[in-house]
Amino acid sequence: MTTAALASMRADLAGFRAAIADVPVIDEPALVRLRSRDFFWFSPILKAQLQRKSADLVVCPRDEADVVVVARAAARHRVPVTVRGAGTGNYGQAVPLEGGIVLDMTDMTAIEWQRPGVVRVQPGKKLVDLDAETRPAGWEQRMHPSTKRTATIGGFVAGGSGGVGSVTYGGLREPGNILGARVVTLEPEPRVLELRDDAAQKVCHAYGTNGIITAVEMATAPALAWIDVLVAFDELSQAVACGHAVALADGIVKKLLTPVAWPVPTYFKGLEQACPEGRSLLIAMVAEPSLAPFEAMVAARGGSVTYRAPTEEGPGARPLYELTWNHTTLHALKVDKEITYLQSLFPVDRTLAAIAEIEALLGDQAMGHYEFVRYNGVVAAVGLPLVRFTTEERLRAMIALHQQHGVMIADPHVTSLEGGSGHMRADIDQLGFKHEVDPLGLMNPGKMTSFTARG
Ligand SMILES: Cc1cc2nc3c(=O)[nH]c(=O)nc-3n(C[C@H](O)[C@H](O)[C@H](O)COP(=O)(O)OP(=O)(O)OC[C@H]3O[C@@H](n4cnc5c(N)ncnc54)[C@H](O)[C@@H]3O)c2cc1C
Repeated sequence: MTTAALASMRADLAGFRAAIADVPVIDEPALVRLRSRDFFWFSPILKAQLQRKSADLVVCPRDEADVVVVARAAARHRVPVTVRGAGTGNYGQAVPLEGGIVLDMTDMTAIEWQRPGVVRVQPGKKLVDLDAETRPAGWEQRMHPSTKRTATIGGFVAGGSGGVGSVTYGGLREPGNILGARVVTLEPEPRVLELRDDAAQKVCHAYGTNGIITAVEMATAPALAWIDVLVAFDELSQAVACGHAVALADGIVKKLLTPVAWPVPTYFKGLEQACPEGRSLLIAMVAEPSLAPFEAMVAARGGSVTYRAPTEEGPGARPLYELTWNHTTLHALKVDKEITYLQSLFPVDRTLAAIAEIEALLGDQAMGHYEFVRYNGVVAAVGLPLVRFTTEERLRAMIALHQQHGVMIADPHVTSLEGGSGHMRADIDQLGFKHEVDPLGLMNPGKMTSFTARG
C-alpha cells in the first residue's frame, strides 16, 4: 500500500491488536486512563483542555523487537502512538490527543554497557536506578531532572531540558551531553536508526513526535559525595547575587544553585526549622570538598547556613533537589491549588539587573524562583516564578511583560512544541526528521503542529 493510501485509512485498532500478537497490553479502562495522564495539571489552562483525553490501549514492549512489531502494526493500521516513560512530563507531553495507543517503555530497563564517562541504556530505566548502577564504577549522570526518583532516561531525553547538574554541564542540548540514540521509525517497514552526536539532538525535547527511542548513550561525570545546603538571606537579591557568584566560581563543584523568595519556603513542609520567617533561601548541592569555600562565599555575602546534610536518595529520604526546578511548583500546589508557574530565561549579559527589573515589575503578582545554569558556555538564570492563577488574560499579560523586557518565555501552558518553545517554532532538524521517520504523522499527533503529512 502507498503512503498516501495508508494516510487516508482510519485507525483500525482491532487489526492492530491482532498484528502485535503476544506483545503485552493493558486494556483495563481505569488503568489506560491513568497511563494517559502526566503532570499537565500544573497548568489550569491545560487541565481544562486535557483531563478527558485518553488512549484506547496501553502497549508494553519488552525489547526492541517488540517495538518494531508495534511500529509496523501502528503504521499499517493507522493507529496513533504516544510513547511514555514515567509520565512526569508537564505540558501534556505524554497525553494522547487523538486516542490510539500509549507505548509504555518502562519494561525496557537494561544498561547495554558502560565505560568511564559513558553509559548506554534502554529508555525505560529510572534515573535513580541508572545512577545506582553506574556509581559503583565511579560515574554518575551529568544532570537529571528533579524527578530523578520517578522519571526515566528516555522521557528525560525526549521531554526534558536539563536540571540538577546543568549549572555545571548546561542543558541536555549542549554538545557532548547526549552522545547517541537508537530510534525505531513508524513506517509499514520500520527501520532502526543509530543517531550519533549532533544527530541525536533531533529526538531531544521532541515530545516523542519523531521516532521511538530504544537506547540512549549519555556522557557521565565522576561520582562525588554531595552535600545539600540551605542558606538564608534577608533579601532575595542577596540570594540571587550569591547564587550567581557561586555559579561563576569554577573551582567550586556544584550541582544546584536555586534562589527562592520568601514566602516560597513556607511550602517546604517539614523544613520549618531551616526556613526562618521572612527570609529568602539559596538551595544548593555542593561537592563535599567544596563545602568550606562555598560556605566562606555565602558568609561573605550575608548568608547563614540553616541546613547541611549529605544528599540521600533512598526510600524515605528527602534530597533537597526535590525542592527545586518544577518540584518547587509541586510543593506550592500541595498547599494552594490556585498556584501555577511560568518558565523564563534571563538575558546572559545583564542577568542580575534583568531579574531585579522583573521582580520590581511583578511585585506581589509572583514569587521569585530561579535556577542558575550554564547556557552556551556562560552562566545564565532560568526563572520558574510561582503565580496565582486568576484568568488566562492576566497570565498572558505577565508573559508579555517578560518578553517586553528581553526575558524569553517557554510557555508551559500550551501542548505544542512550537507554542512551548522560546522561539515559537519547531526545530528545523526535528521537523525534517519527523518527515523521515513518521511520514504518516502518527507519533503523538497534535504536538508538532507545523508538521503536515506529505501523503
Ligand atoms: C515535579 C516535576 C519536576 C520536574 N523537574 C524537571 C527538571 O528539573 N528538568 C526537566 O527537564 N524536566 C522536569 N520536569 C519534567 C519531567 O519530569 C522530565 O521531563 C522527565 O525527565 C520526564 O521523564 P518521564 O519518564 O516521566 O517522561 P514522560 O513524561 O513519560 O515523557 C516525556 C516525553 O517524552 C516522550 N518519550 C518518553 N519516552 C520516549 C521514548 N522512549 N521515545 C520517544 N519519546 C519518548 C513522551 O512521548 C513525552 O512526550 C519536571 C516535572 C515535574 C512534574
